[in-house]
Amino acid sequence: MRNRINLLPLEGKFYKANLHSHTTISDGRLTPEQDKEAYKSRGYEILAITDHRIYGNHEALNEENFLVIPAVEVDINQVSAERLCPEDKTYHINLYDTRPDFKAEEKKKGICPERRYGDFEYINSYIQEMKDMGFLACYNHPYWSMQSYEDYSGLKGFFAMEIYNHGCEHDGLYGYNPQVYDEMLRLGNRMWCVATDDNHNCFLLDDPLSDSFGGFTMIKAKELTLDAVMQALAKGEFYCSMGPEIHELYIEEDELVVKTSPVQKIYVKMDSTRCYRKVDLSEEGLTEARFKLDGNEKYIRVEIKDKDGKFANSNAYFLEDIGYEKGEN
Ligand SMILES: [Zn+2]
Ligand SMILES: [Zn+2]
Repeated sequence: MRNRINLLPLEGKFYKANLHSHTTISDGRLTPEQDKEAYKSRGYEILAITDHRIYGNHEALNEENFLVIPAVEVDINQVSAERLCPEDKTYHINLYDTRPDFKAEEKKKGICPERRYGDFEYINSYIQEMKDMGFLACYNHPYWSMQSYEDYSGLKGFFAMEIYNHGCEHDGLYGYNPQVYDEMLRLGNRMWCVATDDNHNCFLLDDPLSDSFGGFTMIKAKELTLDAVMQALAKGEFYCSMGPEIHELYIEEDELVVKTSPVQKIYVKMDSTRCYRKVDLSEEGLTEARFKLDGNEKYIRVEIKDKDGKFANSNAYFLEDIGYEKGEN
């Protein structure tokens, strides 16, 4: 048998998730029930309700084919408590709860950070404290947040960041952040990437400015339970997208194999301007690509683009973490 490393697991099923959503509990327009119904009717099976500063465990909405992840979005604004001036920088962090029964009262009472913008020691200790309470912490929409390298390069402990945020895309074409992701990876951070809606639903669902159904994460889990889904998230067993799909991703001997829905471009990006690529601009496009690895790639991540200009991204895999050794495969 040939030596094979599965970057996306073989077992399990892909569940479609929106990991960032606001309801009437904060500044969204849909109730949690309406939010769930909207996503369920569009084929989603997982929704994280991440109201601003208010932790929510919406267990009662769970059913056999739909899971709501208990979560909250917290913020640390630079200038004003409510970020009233548009040039105010801000950290927005989604916290996804892997252990809702642990310290449940404390979580309900409030777990917002202090407003200590730029104090990396404090922010990193806050992220650690949240991890200790059972949360996976995600770094949200840096582009919309007016942030630059000096604001995020010192951050540690996130399990993932938003590479795409659909609400921010409408807000100023601030949705897509692949550069920030590569910068964080080049610093050696092990972090995954997600695509989300961050829907507030100020526009109707069929309006061109609707912020629903634009950025999603496909989580490959053994079953649709909080434990299985959170484990898959923690382990990076997912990819994220604005439209195109990544069906399979593995390394066989020294070859990276990518199987997708029809796309025009399949790129493998890494810790330098080197990249591997396959391009087909014809109507049928590509559904598979194979790339030889030389073992000098510190990390690899796959980015694909379809004919509508929509991207999907795999997570980044550091070769030393996945057991790929130069010359041994
Ligand atoms: Zn936010
Ligand atoms: Zn948000």
